[in-house]
Amino acid sequence: MKGDIGVIGLAVMGQNLILNMNDKGFTVVAYNRTVEKVDEFLNNAAKNTRIIGAYSLQELVDNLKKPRKIMMMVRAGQAVDDLIAQLIPYLDEGDILIDGGNANYPDTNRRCEELAARGLRFIGAGVSGGEEGARHGPSIMPGGHASAWEYMKPIFQAIAAKTPDGEPCCDWVGDNGAGHFVKMVHNGIEYGDMQLICEAYQFMKDGLGMNYDEMHEAFKSWKNTELNSYLIDITTDILAFKDEDGKPLVEKILDTAGQKGTGKWTGINALDMGVPLTLISEAVFARCVSSFKAQRVAAAQWYPHQVEKVSGSREQWLEALRLSLLASKIISYAQGFMLMMQASQNFNWHLNYGNTALLWREGCIIRSVFLGNIRDAYEKNPELVWLGQDDYFRDILHNALPQWRKVVAKSIELGIPMPCMAAAITFLDSYTSAHLPANLLQAQRDYFGAHTYERIDAPRGQFFHTNWTGMG
Ligand code: NAP
Repeated sequence: MKGDIGVIGLAVMGQNLILNMNDKGFTVVAYNRTVEKVDEFLNNAAKNTRIIGAYSLQELVDNLKKPRKIMMMVRAGQAVDDLIAQLIPYLDEGDILIDGGNANYPDTNRRCEELAARGLRFIGAGVSGGEEGARHGPSIMPGGHASAWEYMKPIFQAIAAKTPDGEPCCDWVGDNGAGHFVKMVHNGIEYGDMQLICEAYQFMKDGLGMNYDEMHEAFKSWKNTELNSYLIDITTDILAFKDEDGKPLVEKILDTAGQKGTGKWTGINALDMGVPLTLISEAVFARCVSSFKAQRVAAAQWYPHQVEKVSGSREQWLEALRLSLLASKIISYAQGFMLMMQASQNFNWHLNYGNTALLWREGCIIRSVFLGNIRDAYEKNPELVWLGQDDYFRDILHNALPQWRKVVAKSIELGIPMPCMAAAITFLDSYTSAHLPANLLQAQRDYFGAHTYERIDAPRGQFFHTNWTGMG
């Protein structure tokens, strides 16, 4: 019996995806470069399954139905190129290679082009949800050669997470690197969501003087609101988790954040494409600042701040904080979708934004009820320029604004850092300003560099230069 799909890479993601595919009735052929891991897998996690082991690429290829579908779950980067080069001699025209790793989308664009030239089909699929997602239902974002989709669709949609309405969190995203691009933006949004929650935590702890049990209760109550999401769920659990001595474990964790780079890629792409992705970029920088632990400890001695707590009703401040978190989150997603719109235009991807929100609704780290509302917004108006235009989100932003200003102003007054919530409100203020001081900026540019400017009393596209000093 031949396999429906081959999977290369038996580390945590590969193994779990294979077991998930097996559960859904597909016959999977499993291969790993270090072949001892094949037997290890077959004798343990894959015992008593239909999974077939392969001990060479030749054996893997020979055991697959045509057109062959081979999914690579190996370390992102050079390993994927090396593997593709090794596989090519064994493949026939029309066979399909899938990269399910965290590729940078320009690599996927390039691989699509190189493989198409050899008559092979390629899918770059972003897979989110970590090992748990891979095993029980990830969010999958496939893009690449559209003609390959009909072959992978039944497998991917069967193993993907499902929305409460039973819709799979997996659908075709677009040509070439579109799937990996959307996965990258997903990861960037994840950075933003996490940092926003951390800012709310710090305001509760340092501003409102709440203890861990109180903070746990506050986050728990937020689960029943529009903030209902996986990240709020795990934060609620983390705040209640006690170390062996009965003290909150999180209090003992060193405050330096790690990062693997996908948030940084999102920020770099936003800069390249000229999209104001301020919140996610601030979230990446917040991790960078956190990593300067020794410098921060030294500097804290010279610039002491935060001497007093917030006064007034704690309940009211907590509600203001909740609204600030929600409003800031809307801005973050609005910016993320603006970035996807720009990329879609640049690369001619025809991204479907409502569909993208649906892909993230379940199975991934940013899964939330909120994404259902984003999907609704784009279903109502696929041409939505930015999320704040939609009635549902506009009402939330309007309602939150006075409280949100109060929270951000108070945090600045007390010296509690709030880079993302402040960036969000600054963006909203800028984006909703019919007049910005860029007129002065244009004058400065023209003054020192003769860069010219447009006038409000002349047609757009007509440029002027002034001799500002009157000197020849
Ligand atoms: P990983 O640690 O990223 O990679 C280990 C796997 O790559 C092993 O099977 C290893 O084989 C193989 N490999 C490395 N270099 C190779 C080469 N030159 N040729 C062939 N195989 C090679 O594994 P992972 O954590 O399961 O992740 C797989 C992919 O999914 C990565 O791109 C990762 O970024 C992405 N991803 C991971 C997660 C997660 O939560 N871990 C979540 C989403 C996406 P050997 O055993 O022979 O060394």
